[in-house]
Amino acid sequence: MKIVESIADIRAALAPHRGARSIGLVPTMGAFHAGHVSLMRASRAENDMAVVSLFVNPSQFAAGEDLDRYPRDPARDAAVAAEEGVDLLFAPAAAEIYPAGFQTWVEVERLGRGLEGDARPGHFRGVATVCLKLFSIVRPDRAYFGLKDAQQAAVVDRLVRDLALELELRVLPTVRDADGLALSSRNAYLSAGERAAALALPRALAAGLEAYEDGGDPVEAAAAVLAGEPGAAADYVDTLALNGATVLAAAIRVGETRLIDNVVLEGDTP
Ligand code: AMP
Repeated sequence: MKIVESIADIRAALAPHRGARSIGLVPTMGAFHAGHVSLMRASRAENDMAVVSLFVNPSQFAAGEDLDRYPRDPARDAAVAAEEGVDLLFAPAAAEIYPAGFQTWVEVERLGRGLEGDARPGHFRGVATVCLKLFSIVRPDRAYFGLKDAQQAAVVDRLVRDLALELELRVLPTVRDADGLALSSRNAYLSAGERAAALALPRALAAGLEAYEDGGDPVEAAAAVLAGEPGAAADYVDTLALNGATVLAAAIRVGETRLIDNVVLEGDTP
């Protein structure tokens, strides 16, 4: 596996393969876990070349969020990616992506508002802009995202359609720990007690799905479970249309940590 830090270097590394070999891209912020690995494996299986980007994107963090303390372990990440057969790891510095004078932003209007968009002002503008830039640099045939971040997947799907980007968006199921908690780089912040409280999140979503299947109100059922966990504060519980699918999405705060998760109520995701 080759690790490259500049746009010029990744373009040079990909140039000989363009047209002849298909390219899969997995955009990440690092601190790899089995969720990231599932995307890498799909990308490897479906493409000739597997590219992973590792970039903790400053523009998708709102003021006062955890940009500075976001878990970073580039050496371990490189080892994981190499082990998974990734061909190219693109790990640019912030100045490579946002050079002096940078002022071009992409906004996915309606889908980028509500839920995470309300809770994290500017978040999806940062996500859409960095994804478009990564797509422009790598020009992948397929790009891989996790359903864990369902609204993000919907925003990127809209971006791809609206700007007629020539790539296929692949959205893969959420990978969970044995206790049901969705894997997240932010789980590393949790103490044992906080982790126990965080389990209210998948429990609430499961209760919401069950209520929905019984003809009840999924939001109400999920909110009731969260209200019963004193260690977790619900940020929102709501349904979200994701192309053909409807998901029940929630965000909670456990101590200093904010966690999101969702469950598909019906339909197919992209
Ligand atoms: P991140 O590094 O957190 O920005 O995530 C990079 C990609 O991995 C995003 O497309 C996420 O949706 C996806 N991802 C994160 N956690 C999971 C998970 N538990 N299962 C599946 N995909 C995930």
